[in-house]
Amino acid sequence: MKVTLLNFTPNPEKTISIAAKLCYSDSSIDELEDRVKGISHGKFLGKIVKMGHLSVLEHAGFTFGVEGISRATTHQLVRHRIASYSQQSQRYVRLKEPDYVTPPSIGNDPGRKRKFARAIKNSYGLYRELVDNGVPAEDARYLLPNAACTKIIVTMNSRELLHFFRLRCCERAQWEIREMATRMLKLARKEAPSIFSSAGPACVAGPCSEGEMTCGRPGEIRKKFKEL
Ligand SMILES: Cc1cc2nc3c(=O)[nH]c(=O)nc-3n(C[C@H](O)[C@H](O)[C@H](O)COP(=O)(O)OP(=O)(O)OC[C@H]3O[C@@H](n4cnc5c(N)ncnc54)[C@H](O)[C@@H]3O)c2cc1C
Repeated sequence: MKVTLLNFTPNPEKTISIAAKLCYSDSSIDELEDRVKGISHGKFLGKIVKMGHLSVLEHAGFTFGVEGISRATTHQLVRHRIASYSQQSQRYVRLKEPDYVTPPSIGNDPGRKRKFARAIKNSYGLYRELVDNGVPAEDARYLLPNAACTKIIVTMNSRELLHFFRLRCCERAQWEIREMATRMLKLARKEAPSIFSSAGPACVAGPCSEGEMTCGRPGEIRKKFKEL
């Protein structure tokens, strides 16, 4: 899996701080720009997030490129509706070689790994045979597995990212989307620490939200995300 931060709103923390200050001030935009120059964004934005004034976070967006992930994972990703996506098409792109993700629970066992690889190669083999004999790729792709690799570009604003990280960095999320979300968080936090320093599963900023489904390791998870 490769996750790249392709682009983001310039000066995301400054933009959000101006938006938040504007709500409570009669100053002009120029004056507000001057006023946020010396402030601690971390302290100010921390207060704003705690108050639940989250709409101001929507003014800063982040665009990620993700490749080498399975269709099983992008299917989960695109359930997040407050986002924009562009995904490699299985209708227009003909796949040449088997390119797939092997879950560790299968890959760590040589026997399972072998059987899994054989089944996938059979699917891809028939896929290629059909395509080579004139079946449109959009129909032949019905043979391709959930494990098939894909590429996707995703853009989310900071408010949606915080929500996404809360759900998908949690141990309850599936391992592959969790890995992807955690890499996205690491990249976003580097560029906007004031927005993302407490981001991650619910237990990073407060109590675990998962009730009976808790992983039971909030201390360990909290430490992991603080040190990310
Ligand atoms: C651990 C886990 C297990 C899951 N298991 C399943 C499963 O078994 N089956 C399944 O189908 N899905 C499952 N999901 C997917 C889940 O139900 C959501 O579809 C997905 O996480 C997207 O989250 P969301 O709807 O909160 O967020 P987004 O689409 O990212 O939206 C963000 C927020 O905007 C608001 N919002 C967005 N659209 C609407 C709307 N139309 N109406 C009202 N408010 C809206 C909500 O407050 C929402 O939380 C699972 C998710 C997780 C994390």
